[in-house]
Amino acid sequence: MKIITVSYRLPVSIKRQKDNVKITQSAGGLATAVLSYSEKSQKNLTWVGVADFDQQLWEENKNNYDSNFDIEPVYLERRLNRNFYNVFSNSVLWSLFHYFPSFIEYTHDGFEAYKAANEIVADKVNSIYEPGDIVWIHDYHFMGLAKIIREKHPQAKIGFFLHIPFPNFEIFRVLPNKVRRYLMEGVMGSNLIGFHTWENAIHFTECIEKMLGFPHKNFLFSQDTHRTKVGSFPISIDFDKFHNAYDNPNVVKLRNEIKDLYKDKKIIFSVDRLDYTKGITNRLNAYETFLNTYPEWREKVVFLLVIVPSREEITKYGERKKMIELTIARINGKLGNYKWTPVVYQYQSVDFDRLIALYTSADAALISPVRDGMNLVAKEYVASRKDLRGALVLSVMAGAAKELQESLTINPHDFEQIALKLNYGLTMSEEEQARRLEHMQRYLKKHDVFRWASDFLNETEEIHNKDTKAV
Ligand code: UDP
Repeated sequence: MKIITVSYRLPVSIKRQKDNVKITQSAGGLATAVLSYSEKSQKNLTWVGVADFDQQLWEENKNNYDSNFDIEPVYLERRLNRNFYNVFSNSVLWSLFHYFPSFIEYTHDGFEAYKAANEIVADKVNSIYEPGDIVWIHDYHFMGLAKIIREKHPQAKIGFFLHIPFPNFEIFRVLPNKVRRYLMEGVMGSNLIGFHTWENAIHFTECIEKMLGFPHKNFLFSQDTHRTKVGSFPISIDFDKFHNAYDNPNVVKLRNEIKDLYKDKKIIFSVDRLDYTKGITNRLNAYETFLNTYPEWREKVVFLLVIVPSREEITKYGERKKMIELTIARINGKLGNYKWTPVVYQYQSVDFDRLIALYTSADAALISPVRDGMNLVAKEYVASRKDLRGALVLSVMAGAAKELQESLTINPHDFEQIALKLNYGLTMSEEEQARRLEHMQRYLKKHDVFRWASDFLNETEEIHNKDTKAV
């Protein structure tokens, strides 16, 4: 018996070096958590995903890949992959599910490619599936998969988890009818469907009732071949990894460098992938409002803004980047001077040690998505503050705000409110910082990513096993 995890990206990277090829396993939260569950439950793990490497390179070197799980790459033809990933998944589903219906660029080819890619990936899963295996499907790229797998293996244990928000019916109905039905019928092939919040689960359940007419009892739908449970499973982080990194000597060194560089200033920090959902221009405008409302902070504060490059080939992302950079230039030009740069910006990723050094130097983390499924950055900031210092200013539009009850919550469009909360956070007493962080850290320690994965997989098994209707 094994766990088959399916996600668009595989948790490995392959790099050609001078005279050899290096295959490295990713240390991302999802991979670590599923691996830990597979070890504890003594089940093997196989990961299925779309290869971003050359097939020949993999075939020639896969025997050198020494890992505790198997990799099953799926190779998609370049044009198909582009239409599946960029055109349909990221320019239709991503924008609509984050409540940006006007950003949708629906095309017939995109939807056809999405269906074709789901068929190809399902063929791969079906070819390695053995009775007793549990299949865990991740995210909006594979909403058609569960149904296709169930048609071939009616008794399969299948869980589907959506890592982004699920919108209400008025937004979802924007999609053409055939698309909506394909997505809904597709995921309903699962035994368990998980979302980050109950709001998302309720939206999904309402869409099923309205579109497919299936009644449910306590979020449990009965179908001919199986029953499907819908629930909330907020994803989390490896709490100990972020918490303990505080004392790592390299992190200490980097933190001292940052603190030294800005020794007479308070630091506001944010890090996000480039994305219009992250509210980065709002955040900058709110920071400007803060500096205008509380001019006493000028030259006494700096905003360290890290943006991680993402999806640059999609027009909306390129446009957003320009908008952000113009806003930064405007604020620095208008309010800065030869002694002070209000916004210090980098458009590059940071490695783990630097990320922790930045988290743990920041007097406030300002996280202002206009819509976000969870937002792990918020959880990481809280977990990394072993010193119990700092304030988290967090948008109510992030799933994380439901759990991080002691954050200073903001509406990402209300610049005056953000300015007020920033000022509050930066002047908060050390006792209050510690009380708020302790409260949130206790919660995160208990609800870490390992618990998330095991709760989800255990429940998938349980629903399946209780299901007397399974053929
Ligand atoms: N992160 C990263 N590279 C960086 C900086 C951060 O991979 O240079 C990580 C960060 O630690 C976090 C993730 O990217 O785990 C972002 O997750 P989040 O849920 O906040 O947003 P997403 O990008 O998934 O929408």
